[in-house]
This record gives sequence, C-alpha cells and structure tokens, in this order.
Amino acid sequence: MEQDSARDAVKAKGLEIFRLMGSETPALFDKGWWAGRMMERVMRDPSLKVPLFRFVDVLPALNDSRQIARHAREYLSDGALPLPWFVNFLPTAYVVKKAVTGISRTFIAGETPRSALKCLRRLWDEGRPFSVDILGEAVVSEAEAERYRDLYLILADTLSKEVSGWPPLDPRLDPSFPRLHLSVKVSSLYSRIGPANHEDSVREVRRRLLPILAKAREAGGFVNLDMETYSLKEITLDVLTETLDDPGFHDWENAGVALQAYLKCAERDLRRLIGWAKEKNRRITVRLVKGAYWEYETIVARQKGWEIPVFPRKSHTDANFERCVEIALENHEHVTLAVGSHNVRSIAKALTTAERLKVPRDRYEFQMLYGMGEPIKRALMKMGFRVREYAPIGELLPGMAYLVRRLLENASNEGFLQRAFLGNIPPEELLAAPESHVEAPRDREAEGLKPFSNEPVADFTIRETRTAFRNALAEAENRMRESYPAVIGGKEYRQGEPIVSVDPARPREVVGTACGITPELADHAVRTAREAQKGWSQRSHGDRAAVLFRAASVARRRRGELAAWQVREVGKSWLEADADVAEAIDYLEYYGREMIRLGKAARLGDCPGEENLYLYRPRGVGLVIAPWNFPLAISVGMASAALVTGNAVLYKPSSLSPVNGWLAFSLLREGGAPDGALNFIPGKGDAVGDRLVGHPEVDFVLFTGSRAVGLRIVEKAGRTGPGQKSVKRAVVEMGGKNAILIDADADLDQAIPAVLSSAFGYQGQKCSACSRVIVHAECYDRFLARLCEAVKGLTVGSPEDPANGIGPVIDAAAKERILASIELGRREGKVAAEIPVPGEGYYVSPTVLTDLPPDSKILREEIFGPVLAVIRAGDIDEAVDLANSSDYALTGGLFSRSPATIRRVGETFEVGNLYINRGITGAMVGRQPFGGFRMSGVGSKAGGPDYLLQFMEPRVITENTMRRGFSPDVLP
Ligand code: NAD
Repeated sequence: MEQDSARDAVKAKGLEIFRLMGSETPALFDKGWWAGRMMERVMRDPSLKVPLFRFVDVLPALNDSRQIARHAREYLSDGALPLPWFVNFLPTAYVVKKAVTGISRTFIAGETPRSALKCLRRLWDEGRPFSVDILGEAVVSEAEAERYRDLYLILADTLSKEVSGWPPLDPRLDPSFPRLHLSVKVSSLYSRIGPANHEDSVREVRRRLLPILAKAREAGGFVNLDMETYSLKEITLDVLTETLDDPGFHDWENAGVALQAYLKCAERDLRRLIGWAKEKNRRITVRLVKGAYWEYETIVARQKGWEIPVFPRKSHTDANFERCVEIALENHEHVTLAVGSHNVRSIAKALTTAERLKVPRDRYEFQMLYGMGEPIKRALMKMGFRVREYAPIGELLPGMAYLVRRLLENASNEGFLQRAFLGNIPPEELLAAPESHVEAPRDREAEGLKPFSNEPVADFTIRETRTAFRNALAEAENRMRESYPAVIGGKEYRQGEPIVSVDPARPREVVGTACGITPELADHAVRTAREAQKGWSQRSHGDRAAVLFRAASVARRRRGELAAWQVREVGKSWLEADADVAEAIDYLEYYGREMIRLGKAARLGDCPGEENLYLYRPRGVGLVIAPWNFPLAISVGMASAALVTGNAVLYKPSSLSPVNGWLAFSLLREGGAPDGALNFIPGKGDAVGDRLVGHPEVDFVLFTGSRAVGLRIVEKAGRTGPGQKSVKRAVVEMGGKNAILIDADADLDQAIPAVLSSAFGYQGQKCSACSRVIVHAECYDRFLARLCEAVKGLTVGSPEDPANGIGPVIDAAAKERILASIELGRREGKVAAEIPVPGEGYYVSPTVLTDLPPDSKILREEIFGPVLAVIRAGDIDEAVDLANSSDYALTGGLFSRSPATIRRVGETFEVGNLYINRGITGAMVGRQPFGGFRMSGVGSKAGGPDYLLQFMEPRVITENTMRRGFSPDVLP
C-alpha cells in the first residue's frame, strides 16, 4: 500500500498537472471534429470497434472509389458510425481516404524524412525535442530489410545536417539529450528474425544496425531500440548489450531500449540491464512504456497454450510501471529514464519519486507519442520538464498497423486518455494508486479428466528450451546407426530384409536400420493380432483411453528426443519437428477423450416398454500404413485411433522413416498397449503392404500417403477374397494441389509470409502445402515482386542449424522428381525465383514458377516439394474456378478483407479445410479437424469428432421391458 504522505504527494502533483492542462482536449477526442465524435461513439458501443478499425486497416489497399464504397458498405453499412457528413453526399474514394488520412496525420510526422522536417521543426520551435521512427514492421524479404536500414541512414544524414543548425532548447539539459534521436525496430532489420534462430537473429540484426549506430554516433546522435512483440524481446535485449559491448561502442552512452511494463518479466529485464550497466560501469537509457501489443500477446499466448506474458489488467501494468520507474530512478547513476506514459497518475508518481530520490533533471525525461495527450505534454513543459515526442515517419500503407494500434489505445475502455477526456472521471479518481497484480494460487490438479486442449508448442524465446533442443540433437547423434526389430506379439524379429534409413541432409550417414518383415511374418502378425484383439476389446473403454493418456505423458517426457530424430531422419526444422511431436500428443489426448464419450451406450427413443441401446463394437484387425512426412503425429494418430476403439493394430511405418516409426510404436507400447494388440511391422510398401491389404483377416486399412497408393489400396480392399468374413473398410487420406487466393484488397504484409511458409515450410512436403497461388490481377505484379524478393532471402541448408529455413527433401528419388518438374516449368513458363543450394544432401531450391499454360501438368499434379506456381486471375470468382479445377480438394486459403468475398468464397471454394487470412498448413487437433474429399481422400476428418466412428460398427440392442403388462418405465 502506498504510504499516506506519498499518496498525498502524488495526488498534489497530479492535480497540479490537471490544473495546468486546463480544459484542453486532445485532437482525437475533440467532438467538434468528426473523428472525435466517431471515437466517442465507438467508446460508447465497443462492438463498433472491430468493423471500424478493420475498415481503416484495409483502406490504404483500396485503389478506386468503387472498391472503397463497397468496403465501406460491407463494414459500416448500418450507419452506426458518424462518418464525415460529406461522405454521404460524395461517396468517392478521395473523400473517405482523405478522412482517414486526416486521422493518420495526427499520429505521423510526415511521409518521408524530408517532408517530416517541417513538422519536426515546428515541434522543436515549440520546445519539444523528438525521437524519429520509420514506420514499417515485419519486413518480408532481405531486400526490404536492406531498404529499411538505408532509410535510417538517409534519415540520420538528413536530420543531423538540419538539426545541428537549430537553436538550443535548454542549455542545461541539451548536452545530456542529443537532438538527433532515432528509434529503431529490430524486426525491420532482418526478414528471418525469430526466437528459434536466436543467435542468427541477433547476429544479422546487429550487422544491419551497426552502420546506423556508427552514423548516429558520428553525428552525436542517440539510438533507441523499440520493443515490439514478446517473442522478439530477448533478441532485442541481446542485440543492444552485445552491440554496446562491441569494441567500437564500448565507450558510447547514447543508446537505449524500451521496456514494456505490461510484461510480467519487465522488472527482471530492467534489473538485468542495470546489472549489465553496473558491471561495465556505463550508462544506458531505458524508455519505460506500458506496451502496445496487449491484445496480440494475449491472443497469441492463448492460441499456443503458453503462459500469458502480460498482466491481465491495466491497473496491474500501471502498478508495475510505477515499480519499475522507482527501480530505474534509484539507479540513476547508470540509467537515464525516459518515462513513456500518457497517464497523469504514472507521470505524477515518477515526478514525486524523482524528487524524493533527488534525481538530477538530466537523468530523466518524458516521452510521449506524437499526436497523443497534447494537454499533458504542455502541462509538463510548463513545469519545466523535457518532453520528447515519438514521431513516426512513413507512408500510410506500412503505417496502418501503427495507426490501428494508436486507435485501439485511444479507444481502450481501461485507457487513461479515454477515461480522462471522454469518460468524465474526476481527477481524484484518476489519480488513485493502481492495484498490483497478485499471482493467484495455482489450482490444485483438478479432479478427473480436464477437457481437451492442444499441447503447447515449444517456446524458443526461452534460452533453456533452445539449449535442450541442441542437447537432444547431440544425444541423437550418439545413437545413430542402431538397428530396430519388427515386433509381433511382443516378440522381436530380425530376420527380414534390412531397411536402411539415411539423413537426407547427409545421405552418407545412416540414421538407423529397421528389420523388414517377411511374407510369412506378415501372416503370423495377422494371426497374432486377431488373437490379441479379443482380450483387448474386452477391456473397458476407460482402460483403453488410459493407455493413450499414458503414452501422451511418455511423449511429453521424451519430447526433445522425439523431435531431434525427425530433424535427422526426415529433415524437419526445429519448429516443424517440435510441432509434429505436439500434434502426436494432441491425438493421444483427443482420441482418448473421444473414446470415453463414445463408449457410453446411448438410449434411443422414449417408447414405453422398450429399451434401445445404441453402442459400438470394434471392427477387428486394422492395418495402419503411414507416410514419412509427419512420421510421429500421423503414425500415432492413426494407430491410437484404431487401438482405442478396441481393434488390434498392425502398424507399418514408411520405409523412409522407420526410426521415427519405432519411436511412435514405443510410445504406445510404453503407454501400455498390450503385446499383439499393437505390432510393429516395417516393410517395403509394395511387398508387405500389398499382401496385408488383401489379407482376408484384415478388417480395415487406415492409410495416409500418395494418391497412387491410396487408390490402389481402395481397389484392393474392395475385392473380397476367399475366407474373408467382413467387408473391408479403407480410410485413405491422400494428396492435395492446394491453392491460396489473393484478393485485390489483401494485406500483402500478412499474405506473403503466409504463402512462403505454406509453400516452402518443410520444403513443401506437406499434403496441405500451398502449390498454387492465384492472385487478383490488380495486385499480381506487386505480390509477385515481393514474393520473389522474399524467396531470395530464404536459406537452404541442414535443419540442425535453426538459421536455415529450408532443409533437404526426403530422398534422391524425390529430388529428381521435383527437379524434373522445375525443368518442365522452365520450358513451359518462367522461373521467377530460385536460390543456390548446398552440394551434398537432397536439397532443392524453393522455386517460383509463373506464366504456365493452363493445362500444364504442374498446375494439376501434386509435386510434393518446394515448388510454387503463381497464377493471375481477373477477379476472385475466376480465382475460385481455377482453384476448383484440380482433382484434389484438401486445403485452400483466401486473403481478403472484404466480408462479402470471404462469405462467398467460403461457399464456393471446394476444399476440406479452408483458411481465411492465414497460412494453410498446421491444422490443430480438435480445432481444425483435417482431411479432404475428391481425390484427396475418403473418410472423416482426423482430429475431429467423427474420426473414431470409422473403426467401429454401431449396434442396436432392443429389449422388450414389459412383463405381464407392466414395465419399469410405466409404474402406477
Ligand atoms: P506413399 O504413398 O509413397 O507411402 C505411404 C505409405 O504407403 C508408406 O508407408 C509406404 O511404405 C506405403 N506403401 C507404398 N506402396 C504401398 C502399397 N502398394 N500397398 C500398401 N502400402 C504401400 O506416400 P509418402 O511419400 O509416404 O507420403 C507423401 C504423400 O502422402 C503425399 O501425396 C501427401 O500429400 C500424402 N499425405 C496426405 C496426408 C493427408 O492427411 N491427406 C497427410 C500426409 C501426407
């Protein structure tokens, strides 16, 4: 609790600020202006926020009046928002765009460094220094990152020449606060920045940052690193400290970083920086802000199942801000503090703390965003404090993300500005001490089974997670070349043909050898399974589900090991390998729960004197044939579904991933799957597979793989041989020729990374991968140019190094087949982008093909490699027709910001899984049940509520409950 005297001091200081603010209102809340009225309306009815901000977001991408009018109607048709009055009379592109441009000018100093000079000079003349930032985040290519760096160099040049001639502001403070002040976002300096490749990200960002720092230093300027999303925080901090440790900068003190008080770890990070500065005996600047990505952080963490890194309430953030201000001011010998807040209470608290600690005036300043909280700035200046404006420069289009963040902030119901200037809340209330966050005691393990939730993927922002992954890879290295037996009825067999598995990145290295089964062993396996199935099917469904839950625990324990073997055997990147293990765990947890749900007999009808029970029995013996591309998840998913429903399973892994197959088998065995009910039968597909698919005692086949093999299995399973007692069922999941459609109004900043990862993630070897992108003619050239630039920034190499985005394809045959397709594309059309690849290993360049003839084989057949065809379409309906012209119907995607188009394409685009405004791979169990139709497969979706039903037969038992005229349900 705040001491009475401290509370009174803060209140007095706050009231003084309010008094100096007078009745001035920030421009955005000025109800005399339509924007102010609109903000007020949005605040009163928060449901208007989403359509309005979405409209603002799409606006810069719209080029003509027709499009703008259509989007305005789709988002704002009900007239709930007071658009400027003239819009109703002149519904032209010009007018609407002008209105929004007007708001954006409130927050942006100018479109170019030169054009911003006028505004900056005005600020300076009013006594306000500034920090300049170039708008634009998330660069999609290295060329864009280079451009961004160059822009900063130009900015530094332009500004330093100009500002050096401006008159001094305050001779006492000026020497401590350089007038050339730049703010830089690290995400804009490296297109492949990410937590998994932490070291690589730090190195590459530093490489581009150093010339900017050198130039700033030469000009006597200052550079601050902005803080963006939590995932980039560690990278940003390491970039700063490592750069300042550099011999060229070890005596330079004009650098700093922003810390966000909404992060639970803010205090720890602040102490880390203070510790660093103390140890090196130097000074660093910390800009303490509340944080602008609260919604984003909350959503992302919840989607991934991670602990939410931000405080749940605004007041908790405010309290943390105050705590961090105090810590920074206590350490003013080493820290210069920039107080970045528009909240009068936070500012008053900082002022009283600085007074109490007798912090000299040149050790702290205030920083506020250009266009926000003007009355507060003016009040502070009247009190003699230095207020720096954070002034972004940039074009409207890349600036939209910034504008939407500002509008959200201004419209936040918990936000100070909104409460102070629109909410009519009295100053005394606004100056009350914020409530601290108290960590709720952890729930004791809830009784019983928790509802299903997806297993969180690894959080590589955590250093220990990265180290653990590296250790697991080293561990796998020590266990290469082992041999794995077939296991039938719990007995190991090693007499069959060896199946040698090699590392596709280093084909001379053997990963392991599995012992294939012979035809006699295949028959023996069927007999063994049939025998074991009787006992297994009689176990309760809860018991069978428990096997899956235990297997999930085993997988969690062995998580690093399971992922590491995928890197070595099938060439997956760290992220892809880890995601596959998480998906395997999801299947186990989900199907276990599904069996418990389905295992309860249902009562049907309500007819007196009669009881109808609806229940399921297992089909018998199932043959599970898995592919190599999701060697754990798909194997575990199919085998566990067949098992938990009471069937015995013959599991055949792909010959290209037998070691991962062994791991899938061993998980289920360790979880308690009985000998004989689960059998491991490696073997060549055409030999073992064919024999078993046609075996009369196999009741169903569960297959995921190519169309050719899938159709052969359907055909073979459809033939009834002598001695066969049941009609064989084949559930086959096959390939895709998936397309992403790009509408004229698409957000290309979002679409290009999504297309890249969908097309080239895991080298395009996913059934859901994007192999065609069909682009609206209006944005085709822009899209293609940026996409090709982005491809040129990819790196191909061993997946053991997380800096490599693209690894090898699975084997020599695949490489040859993919290269042949690329050559065909080169002959029939154009290769628009390709990059060099290493000599050793099965590497193929990610390749973009264009101008292919409509009947090209490349546009119809699955290539299963990193090859993407870009196609031009006149409009989005034509794009849908082109997409639907394939035989396959697996996944598809659409990037559009028109609600009407999204609805229409949802109805007409024929695919099993359609994704809007995101990538098209990475379906999550339970959330996006996965599977296609047409030539993509027959069967219900994996990871969905109908899946298990395919491995059971429904039965009905009807009992006449009436005896001599009475029945338990009709008693007198
Ligand atoms: P593949 O068809 O070559 O092999 C799949 C499995 O079938 C392997 O275990 C293989 O040994 C076995 N097999 C081969 N010939 C057989 C035969 N005659 N009888 C019985 N079994 C036989 O496929 P793949 O290369 O392992 O996997 C890639 C393919 O899988 C792609 O087409 C991809 O689209 C598809 N896939 C589909 C999904 C989906 O859910 N729809 C998921 C992953 C992969």
